[in-house]
Amino acid sequence: MSLSDFEAVIGLEVHIQLKTQRKMFCDCRNDGELQPPNTTICEVCLGHPGTMPVPNKKAIEWAVLMATALNCSINKKQFFDRKNYFYPDLPKGFQISQFSYPIGENGFLFILNKKLKSKTYVEASESDIRIGIERLHLEEDAAKNIHKDDRIMVDYNRSGTPLVEIVTMPDFRSPEYAKIFLQDLRLIARYLGVSDADMEKGHLRCDANISLRPKGDDKLYPKTEIKNLNSFKSVERALEYEIMRQYKIWESNEQDSIRQSTRTWDENSQTTKEMRSKETSGDYRYFPEPDIPHLDFNDKSFINIDDLKNSLPELPYDKRKRFLEEYGLSKEEAYILTSSIKISEYYENIVRKLLSEIDVDGEENFEEIIAKKTAKWMTNKFIGVLSSRNISFENNPLSEDDFVDFMKIALSGRVNSSLLQQILEKALETGKAPTEILEEGNLNKSVDNLDGIIQSVITENPDEVQKYLSGKHNLLQFFIGQVMKKAKGRANPDEVREMILDKLNELN
Ligand code: ZN
Ligand code: MN
Repeated sequence: MSLSDFEAVIGLEVHIQLKTQRKMFCDCRNDGELQPPNTTICEVCLGHPGTMPVPNKKAIEWAVLMATALNCSINKKQFFDRKNYFYPDLPKGFQISQFSYPIGENGFLFILNKKLKSKTYVEASESDIRIGIERLHLEEDAAKNIHKDDRIMVDYNRSGTPLVEIVTMPDFRSPEYAKIFLQDLRLIARYLGVSDADMEKGHLRCDANISLRPKGDDKLYPKTEIKNLNSFKSVERALEYEIMRQYKIWESNEQDSIRQSTRTWDENSQTTKEMRSKETSGDYRYFPEPDIPHLDFNDKSFINIDDLKNSLPELPYDKRKRFLEEYGLSKEEAYILTSSIKISEYYENIVRKLLSEIDVDGEENFEEIIAKKTAKWMTNKFIGVLSSRNISFENNPLSEDDFVDFMKIALSGRVNSSLLQQILEKALETGKAPTEILEEGNLNKSVDNLDGIIQSVITENPDEVQKYLSGKHNLLQFFIGQVMKKAKGRANPDEVREMILDKLNELN
């Protein structure tokens, strides 16, 4: 028996906070995470007796939008349910949620098939991965317990924040795809503008269910639910850990002892620990919320589902697919260039402008060459330079026209790539147009013949080259010095160093 005889059966339960102006059932502002504790609260979200919840229409629309993006069918008849349990962060003693009729059901999300980084727990798959969405429903968030010294304090600012809960089918076979799915979910929420879905800030929270079974077996074995997953990385790690833990139980033939249970991920020890045996829905004594009237989605004056559907932007998976097919990009490039709507628009506008401004007569595959080269420059260099300068793409100072200007220089073949990178950096630094920087000239001259200078330094110093090759590596400084002297200081020492190393390695 080995690990490869088993497959993991993984499902996710995800909560995403909606960034509406107001809370789910009251008029309190919904930015409590930025405000002092217990200041964005009222009688409703504190659960005072006799108060009446009024649903937030925007939150309902956004939940429908999210469910539509996940290809769910939308339930036209809607009501809320009470989920009863006792905890200090839940002042009413129940959470207003949806049980029988979620906003959406039976959806799915495709994930672009990717070369996975982890070698274990996964079978190579040629086709894209389809993850079923069991349901998406709307509910209110609980307050936040803050543990300080030996006390627990409660901040009710979060109480009543609108949440969508998304439950997937147990369709993941690999922890890595679970992570990728969550990242895609975050991106969809951002594309739709309904949440920042920042996991570190608790906007997106995830519990994972996992069981193991012998390959070929259709049965579902008792699952473990893992809680306290605070980052994408911890989701993946916790699932990998749990697979190994359960595998060892199978290995010693004690699988009958596995009960359905809830475990918590401990970041420090990188292990899961049992909390309790898992509760079932019966434990919550769900019943319809009597204080909120039923909602009717057939009533177009209340909510127009068709309008919402038509307002969906092109979603990340479709955009990536299109970038692969239309521009011949690599999957890696497609992922980066769809990582925000802004980036993807910037990229496509540049390609469009280049195609309309450059004469493509007679050249074969010219469109694809332009699209690919632009993608290369954006993903390999530009986004890297921005992030090394701590500039977010949203604050990118280079206009589309400037980047078009830059790409024209790059496509002309007049200038080598290390010089192009200098132009890019200088454009970011000075805000000048790339052509202007090129015409100023001093970059141009020094680097243009750098290759020739290095070659001549090597030819003129055969003894030093021999010594270097036989191990005297500190001579590298000598070569750099000689080249800088000949270049009259107009070269970048780091680049010179790299180029000399390349040349010397060729001789080796
Ligand atoms: Zn309130
Ligand atoms: Mn929930």
